[in-house]
Amino acid sequence: MKQLWHNCHAATMVGGKYSIIEDAAVLTDGERISWIGPRAELPAHDAQRSHDLDGAWLTPGLIDCHTHLVFGGDRSAEFEMRLEGASYAEIAAAGGGIASTVRATREASEDDLLSSAVRRARPLLADGVTVLEIKSGYGLDLTSERKMLRVARRLGEVLPVTVRTTCLSAHALPPEYAGRADDYIDLICSEILPALAAEGLVDAVDAFCEHLAFSPAQVDRVFKAAKALGLPVKLHAEQLSSLHGSSLAARYQALSADHLEYMTEEDAIAMAAAGTVAVLLPGAFFVLRETQLPPMDALRKHGVAIALASDLNPGTSPALSLRLMLNMGCTAFRLTPEEALAGVTLYAARALGLEADHGSLEAGKLADFVAWDIQRPAELAYWLGGDLPKRIIRHAEEITCG
Ligand SMILES: [Zn+2]
Repeated sequence: MKQLWHNCHAATMVGGKYSIIEDAAVLTDGERISWIGPRAELPAHDAQRSHDLDGAWLTPGLIDCHTHLVFGGDRSAEFEMRLEGASYAEIAAAGGGIASTVRATREASEDDLLSSAVRRARPLLADGVTVLEIKSGYGLDLTSERKMLRVARRLGEVLPVTVRTTCLSAHALPPEYAGRADDYIDLICSEILPALAAEGLVDAVDAFCEHLAFSPAQVDRVFKAAKALGLPVKLHAEQLSSLHGSSLAARYQALSADHLEYMTEEDAIAMAAAGTVAVLLPGAFFVLRETQLPPMDALRKHGVAIALASDLNPGTSPALSLRLMLNMGCTAFRLTPEEALAGVTLYAARALGLEADHGSLEAGKLADFVAWDIQRPAELAYWLGGDLPKRIIRHAEEITCG
């Protein structure tokens, strides 16, 4: 069907800027935008339906490009214990930490994982999210990693959202491999990745490069295996220390390197040359009460594209609002509201390899957009979460969830 959307302003985010069109109109043909521009220049058309957007501001649908949204249990009890004074050793002795999430995820049925994931996804979607990345990494064996990725795929079938799946088997060492990290990397490279890729469950491959997780040499092996399967890579890098994982990621033309508080200017130069997106995660920065800021000046100076994401996970970022991350990206990392919005639209799309279809309002791209009842785009980053009146349009169809 051909449709006209009018009486609106658009922050199209073309080129990673607001790229505003005042008094805009949009023509859609099927699922895609066929024309967008000033209403005064609207070409002759034969739209069968016309939508008055009542002066709203249009932005591209928001994209959350880094989440661990599928998991069993949660860690609210541990959160409370810690704030009541328990030590990490006491929490570990009580079965807490990532091991507890691995255990709960392994024990949960696929249907149980799906229903809890749907509960967490709904507020994100109500916030204007139309594309969501979901990682595995709490199963840590073939069966459980498959279960997580199948749940992620099913989430995209039961909810009106585009889901990209990332295999993060190299997230943590499973308890049965304690002291044998290289053997676990062998298992990932020779069994887990090839099997899950063959089943069509993997859009990208990720790893956690850190002293408490995997070394650059181990990550390098995972990336080699991913490349042999024709899969793009991403990396959790420089969150707690500098191992130059982001430079390693750049050598593999990674879609993104994520976290990056401890990255160096040399890493930024390598990422810029490779076109690797810097995905910043202010939720984890906040929850961990981190004080080391990502090197914003170096990222800007060398022209690294910056994305923002929720990092929704049970341990370090139980964040259910991507718009709250816009505010936190501005307040904590000093992004401008325009940079923050580009970080959840155009550059988030790039971080998922989806820029051809998503991330900006342009003819040819999918008609995923949000019509916000706001006075100016900066409001999206200004309010600390909450709900903003909006209409959400995905693939040129209005969806109801907010
Ligand atoms: Zn993460």
